[in-house]
Amino acid sequence: MEILGEVEESVRELREYFKSGSTRSVKWRKTQITALVELLHDHEDAIFKALNQDLGKHPVESYRDEVGVVAKSANNSLNCVEKWMAPKQSHVPLLFFPAKGELLPEPLGVVLIFSSWNFPISLALDPLIGAISAGNVVVLKPSEQAPECSSFLANTIPQYLDSKAIKVIEGGVDVCEQLLLQKWDKIFFTGSPKVASIVMSAAAKNLTPVTLELGGKCPAILDSLPNPSDFRLAVRRIVGGKWGPCSGQACIGIDYVLVEDKFKNVLVDLLKRIIKKFYGEDPKESKIIARIVNKHHFERLCNLLKEPLVQASIVHGGSVDEEKLFIEPTILLDPPLDAQIMMEEIFGPLLPVITMNRIQETIEFINSRPKPLAIYAFTKDETLKRKILSETSSGSVVFNDTMVQFLCDALPFGGVGQSGIGRYHGKFSFDTFSHEKAVMHRNLCLEIEPRYPPWNKFKMQFLRLAYKLDYFGLLLHIMGLRRYN
Ligand code: NAD
Repeated sequence: MEILGEVEESVRELREYFKSGSTRSVKWRKTQITALVELLHDHEDAIFKALNQDLGKHPVESYRDEVGVVAKSANNSLNCVEKWMAPKQSHVPLLFFPAKGELLPEPLGVVLIFSSWNFPISLALDPLIGAISAGNVVVLKPSEQAPECSSFLANTIPQYLDSKAIKVIEGGVDVCEQLLLQKWDKIFFTGSPKVASIVMSAAAKNLTPVTLELGGKCPAILDSLPNPSDFRLAVRRIVGGKWGPCSGQACIGIDYVLVEDKFKNVLVDLLKRIIKKFYGEDPKESKIIARIVNKHHFERLCNLLKEPLVQASIVHGGSVDEEKLFIEPTILLDPPLDAQIMMEEIFGPLLPVITMNRIQETIEFINSRPKPLAIYAFTKDETLKRKILSETSSGSVVFNDTMVQFLCDALPFGGVGQSGIGRYHGKFSFDTFSHEKAVMHRNLCLEIEPRYPPWNKFKMQFLRLAYKLDYFGLLLHIMGLRRYN
């Protein structure tokens, strides 16, 4: 009851403040984003510490995947927000002459952002930048599974940002449930498909639009690559994309690798060598590989390895340390396809390698499963690239690299089908938190009689022609190059 009262009061205050119009000006938006950049700058060490406490992340990884990503995104918004806010002229057909059309972005209102624990800073602040850039007021609910980062955000955000417009509400499932009872103008959710369907049902009651940033099993296809240095680089990028970000606890991390049977041994050998090069002889002692977030996820991952046929498929790693919540980078060669490890999103440091007779079979394999958030393919074969693009569906496709799409603000980030609804990053974040209002400017000087009754044959013919005409079409008609019947 107490939580509900607090949540209701926060939403009421935010709605009042939004109505005041204070968050609509460019100045307000830029001031908030600048303050966010300052927050990152002033508290970089505290953020590194919180990320290390929650996930065992190394400061360099924390900068690469969290602080640096958010600062980049904030600077991009600062540079572009005025341009994004400007109305865009739209071509209006001759039928409406004289008239002017424009698309005018407006903020949606009071928005709710749920973030996830695996990138607890960037997955909270990156959508927040989008919501602020678009002129909204916000409730941010950080993930309770990264408690140090959650309390860092709850303590510092009110010191830097306008607390009448941006509120951080901490808590677990009970708080989420109370938040979902409120009426929002947008819900932006990062998490699992299971909770996403709860969020979407709650949103449906008020016809609230949602963006759902989910996950799934992202495959990496490794084609033949005859040049050994290409092959080595590809495997290096696979290791970087699998174990680099948060020890495989990443939505766009590689879930499994598909390779032709004849290359499996060379692939596994190379994977082992590169893992050693990156993380040393004993990765547990390396202090550069993130740990599993908590006991629940540690046990979930250990259970994935328990099935005897899965155990038998381990060709590297497999050791675990419950006290340190550590699981060694682990490679499995052809585990059974009906084992749990091949049925659910792994979200951890386990990498199944699945062999095929022919590389073309990979497409059928991918299509027999829910649409992934990302497909990675290492290949120089243009026909295979075209087949992947035209015959599969996924949030993104990356050829010859992994994870880099997340860093590229020029491309939208989001899923399709089971991997999500909607997209964000850069201008796409601004669009996600805006409504593009259609505006038509007419004047009162010219009247077209055929739009009004009483009807006659001439009016019918006039309307038939008018509905087909545009300026360019009229020109072609006059020049005798196009005929309208
Ligand atoms: P989750 O769905 O378990 O939790 C997300 C949020 O939902 C948390 O804040 C939690 O408090 C809340 N929640 C949990 N149960 C709830 C309930 N019954 N009712 C209401 N709210 C509830 O997800 P997670 O463990 O935080 O993250 C893992 C998942 O998120 C993976 O599937 C991963 O792929 C996905 N993910 C996606 C992205 C992306 O950008 N697409 C990024 C990170 C993680």
